[in-house]
Amino acid sequence: MFTPHPKHHHPWSHLRQTLFLLLLAFSSPTIHASQHPRDLPTRDWTRSSWTVHHHHHHPTCPLPTDASPWSLPPLCPEPVGDDAVGDADGTWARPASTDCVFTARHFRGGQGFSLITTPEIAASVAGSGALDDGDVAGVGDSNLAWTPAYEIRDIPGRDKGMTAASALNGHEIIMTGFPVLVIRMDFVNGEVFSEGQKSSMMDVGLRRLGEEQWAAVMGLAKMSGDENVVLDVLQTNGFGVDVGGVPHLALFIDGSRVNHDCHPNAFWRFNSNRMAMEIVSLRPIQPGEEITHSYAPLGYPHADRQTILQPWGFTCTCDLCTAPEEVRSLSDTRRSRLIDIHHTLGQAADLGDGESQEKREKRIGELVLEAFSLIEQEDLYPQLVEYYERFARAYLMVGDAKRGRAFAEETERMWLLFGGGEEHEYVDGLKALWAAVKEAEEEQDEE
Ligand SMILES: [Zn+2]
Repeated sequence: MFTPHPKHHHPWSHLRQTLFLLLLAFSSPTIHASQHPRDLPTRDWTRSSWTVHHHHHHPTCPLPTDASPWSLPPLCPEPVGDDAVGDADGTWARPASTDCVFTARHFRGGQGFSLITTPEIAASVAGSGALDDGDVAGVGDSNLAWTPAYEIRDIPGRDKGMTAASALNGHEIIMTGFPVLVIRMDFVNGEVFSEGQKSSMMDVGLRRLGEEQWAAVMGLAKMSGDENVVLDVLQTNGFGVDVGGVPHLALFIDGSRVNHDCHPNAFWRFNSNRMAMEIVSLRPIQPGEEITHSYAPLGYPHADRQTILQPWGFTCTCDLCTAPEEVRSLSDTRRSRLIDIHHTLGQAADLGDGESQEKREKRIGELVLEAFSLIEQEDLYPQLVEYYERFARAYLMVGDAKRGRAFAEETERMWLLFGGGEEHEYVDGLKALWAAVKEAEEEQDEE
């Protein structure tokens, strides 16, 4: 049965206290709204000294030069897909941004890793030191005594799954995993390469890692029956990750064994500087308990969750989805209301338009409290990162720089807790938030 609120698991009382302090701490005289939409900062390319040699007319010609740090020369076929373009004179020059297969066989103590992406992104991965095994937890001599906190087992009624090998606390790293394959999303979805080319490039990428990895990947769940078997495995098991600021699909052998649950006990994060995925517990987990994460974004009502999960080809039967109708419908009502508040706070500049500053801030305060209570009731603790940012921005929109700053601080605190304090796509969002806070403070100073 679904037990909705394991309250003792989370420091809710502490969080609630902090929230009240934030809401009450400041008196309200402030300034006019500042509502400039802020674009996320764009990343700089840091090209390493290693560059790919572009070559012409030879679909799979090997590169004669040293491909270091890759263990094999990149495989760069000439694209023949519908969107591949040749030069007017009939010759064809391979654009620098066309995908190649890069392989590092030595990666992570010989696990190996193939990357299908543009030479620029591959160079940024190599240049960032992500291929070095030196300081990576779970790899190398210093970690010989290290035993994994998980097991991969057959789960009744499901395929395989991951279970806890020992008792875990909240926010403990259960698994650090490294990808065997990482493939640029636009390579998969675009039509620069033909389907046959895509299939053989993925095939080569995986075969280059050896028989053992090939067999391990082929043993993972497949769902589409696609002729391109590697793509089928990737679409069933892949994780959407950001590499060099660009969306990629990454395949982790153990990581892909973690099954879905709408009320999960773990979450995952990816750090592209170490090419590492971590599965982290959200609450204490008993030995033998199955470890789950949510394939869908958290917080959606039942019908939406099932729609989002459709591509994986299963109907979720987690405790939340199979709860009695009245329990589920209460949960759905709360979740829908929470999403409404999210939208309303996003338009906070229009909230109580024409009313006094004080009234507008009061209205936001009410919505913040209501949202927090719904998050608590639905146990959507990880969503606080996102909601705190929403709260901060709502206050900034009505010119309350003090509460804006206070919630930006909470956002950052939650971010450190969930993001592990390392580089992540969300850090850009955090930078933009702090820029917005500073701008609001400057406007306030001018008053
Ligand atoms: Zn479910």
